Amino acid sequence: MRVESMLKTALPNKEECVAQCERLERAGCELARVALPAVELGEFLRWVNERTSLPLMADVHFDPAIAIAAMKAGCAAVRINPGNMPLHKLTEMIAMAKGLGVVIRVGANGGSLSARHLDAAGGDRATALFLAVREQVSLLLDRGFENIILSAKSSSVAETVRGNGLIARAWPELPLHIGVTEAGPGDAGIVRSTAGIAALLSQGVGDTLRVSLTDEPEREVRVGYEILKALGLRSRGVELISCPTCGRRRADVMKLVRLIEPMLSDLPDGTTVAVMGCEVNGPREAKNARFGIAGTPVGAVLFREGVVAGEYDFEDLPTVLPAFFKET
Ligand code: SF4
Repeated sequence: MRVESMLKTALPNKEECVAQCERLERAGCELARVALPAVELGEFLRWVNERTSLPLMADVHFDPAIAIAAMKAGCAAVRINPGNMPLHKLTEMIAMAKGLGVVIRVGANGGSLSARHLDAAGGDRATALFLAVREQVSLLLDRGFENIILSAKSSSVAETVRGNGLIARAWPELPLHIGVTEAGPGDAGIVRSTAGIAALLSQGVGDTLRVSLTDEPEREVRVGYEILKALGLRSRGVELISCPTCGRRRADVMKLVRLIEPMLSDLPDGTTVAVMGCEVNGPREAKNARFGIAGTPVGAVLFREGVVAGEYDFEDLPTVLPAFFKET
């Protein structure tokens, strides 16, 4: 499963685009889509593409000439939208993609479905997404072009899940990019994205993902990895297990978590750290983790690899914990 995002800066602001690519790469992003709204912006895309090692996919609508400009700019992949791309004008674009080994993503979106596809689906939007993808994929395959990634997104979780299920069953051999489009900001955006992506992944559907948030793109990447970590599909960064706390708590877990979070960034991927509030589940979880912290009324008992490493007062923890996390 590859984690993707999209640049949120217009190409003419090319220095910021490169800086955003660097931040995305540091967050673990493995491909970024970049909006290319006009042929004339192809030179900006070239400039950015030459200065980043992050693979870029040009996001193209309405005019295949823009996809051709993206390929001339050195882009390794283009996304075209079957809802607004005229089928009869794709010949030159397909030939160029074939010659250059460029990937074409056929990316349908619920917000730009054509009336034609909606009518053919009897108004069923999930089916209309499938029909839009089918029309363009059939054309590409008929022309002998197989370097294709599929995608069909809706802001409705149910439509996204059903539409992608239809697509995955129709072309099991083609990779499928998944996500809930325009999921929104904050908690609601994360929950909607997670609901759709996790439902699909639990059915074995999806090869790459993007979490589409009204937020910084790095957050999209972090949330994407958290979904994959929660499903046991990839590991990145620390697995932090912490109790929600309740009336039994013998320690201020929120305070402990805030204290340790800045100390965790250098730990190897997949390291488990448990922070627990009392003796009900605390000692067991803390012992099972690589690093465990079980709260006490005055501080915490620290466990390393299941063995007690010491008991400390809270005021000593800021000094003790950095060394505790470094020792193996
Ligand atoms: S570990 Fe203890 S404090 Fe935390 S939620 Fe469970 S019972 Fe409550």
